[in-house]
Amino acid sequence: MASPKDLESLQRELASLAKRQGDLEDVVLEVMERREGAQERVRELTDRVEAIQAKVDDATTRRDAANAEIDAEVATVNKERELTVADIPEALVALYDRIRAKQGGIGAARLYQRRCEGCRLELDITELNDVRSAAADTVVRCENCSRILVRTPDSGL
Ligand SMILES: [Zn+2]
Repeated sequence: MASPKDLESLQRELASLAKRQGDLEDVVLEVMERREGAQERVRELTDRVEAIQAKVDDATTRRDAANAEIDAEVATVNKERELTVADIPEALVALYDRIRAKQGGIGAARLYQRRCEGCRLELDITELNDVRSAAADTVVRCENCSRILVRTPDSGL
């Protein structure tokens, strides 16, 4: 038989354990709430990652298509250049390529209304006279940018 003192002690311990259990239940609830919040955040982030990945996939597809188009255009242009170059004297092609390398990829420019379309400068009267008096098969060049000038009926000569 327990003494009243033992009973009292036992009751205190029971009360203490009950309080501890309540505290722990509160902790469990809080942890569960936090876990739900974290799971919700994971879902949101997963959705965002999927949306971004879809954009990346789309951009990659478009980039690849553009690259294929560019490659095809390069092949076509190279073929056209080969055919064109075949009809032009070798020395003139070499001159053109040299100027082109120095002048940002443009070796020849149209002479349009007395203006070099390579450097956009208008030829002065002396230059114009020189170009005017040059034979049709003479290679004339812009004194300012050195590009080969291509004469047309719109050259303003
Ligand atoms: Zn020029």
